Amino acid sequence: MKKIAIVCSGGDCQGMNVGVKVFTQICKNIRITPIAVIGGYRGLIDCNFSELTEEFVANIDNLGGSIIKSGRCADFKEDKFVKIGVENLKKANIDGLIVLGGNGSFRGLKSLNDFGAKVIGIPASIDNDLFFTAKSIGFETAVNQATKVVDDVKQSMKSSDRGLVVKVMGRDCGDIALQTAVSTLANCVVMRELGSTENSILKDVRSAIENKVDCPVVVVSENIGFNVEKLSEFLEKNTGKEFRFADVGYLARGGAPGNADRVLATRFTCFALNLILQGKSGLAVGIKNNEIFAEEIEEVLSAKERNINIELIDIIKVLNNLSKR
Ligand code: ADP
Repeated sequence: MKKIAIVCSGGDCQGMNVGVKVFTQICKNIRITPIAVIGGYRGLIDCNFSELTEEFVANIDNLGGSIIKSGRCADFKEDKFVKIGVENLKKANIDGLIVLGGNGSFRGLKSLNDFGAKVIGIPASIDNDLFFTAKSIGFETAVNQATKVVDDVKQSMKSSDRGLVVKVMGRDCGDIALQTAVSTLANCVVMRELGSTENSILKDVRSAIENKVDCPVVVVSENIGFNVEKLSEFLEKNTGKEFRFADVGYLARGGAPGNADRVLATRFTCFALNLILQGKSGLAVGIKNNEIFAEEIEEVLSAKERNINIELIDIIKVLNNLSKR
């Protein structure tokens, strides 16, 4: 093998740059030319390839986002564009490709593999919605960021005895919301998986108010089936307490990757590169019980949703019924 490429696809996340740096360093060390595909799968179609140098990656590991750009490319859902991508890799003498991305990107990976490219995936998504692996790169850092936002906003809310409704990202997966709720000792977590309703939230908030909590906090995930912005109005109307709404949004994607994501990105990248060097393809790497493993892409894409962590849900409920905060 002479040339291997790496691409960041879909939503960016912290830790992608660690992957790019580790990839570059190892390739250089074993005299393989490391190539960046710039800007997600669009870069494959447009032949936007660039050789990575050690100078370029020297100071990127502490940066969020993706230095080689990431992005969405609707064309890639069509076979004819995937074929162009595979041809372009061949023409550029690129022997293998590592894809850092989430669910959508892994569908693209499967198509690339089906049309003959050698591809290995690394789960990289703040949402943690790739269920074959316990963790994706970016998730831990996103939770830390969301936790900091809640902590900070709460200081202001507490001063005026206001309640707080906070929305976090996660697409259809409530993991960010759940972890953020536990780490901020929130009074209620709202997730699609729990089937939360406005009335179930009101019940938790009332219980917090009865316990003299000055700033009841409700952490809400995306895609829960009702209007989150209106939730604070609803709670205000039904409790007589003032509420404010804050959207963590893209703040969760910013900032330096934390230790857990740096280590995970490094381990994933070493493992993925080894698979490519062995001539393997159509696999994604994952982690379970702190062990890295590889899984066939078909299995990855059909993995069943994880069970809700009932222990954490119970902790939130029990603490809400007990404490004065
Ligand atoms: P993520 O990878 O973060 O889940 P998306 O779902 O937006 O992000 O997908 C990222 C990209 O993956 C898409 O813009 C597209 O290029 C590619 N992709 C998504 N679905 C498919 C599909 N069914 N077939 C081929 N490529 C796909």
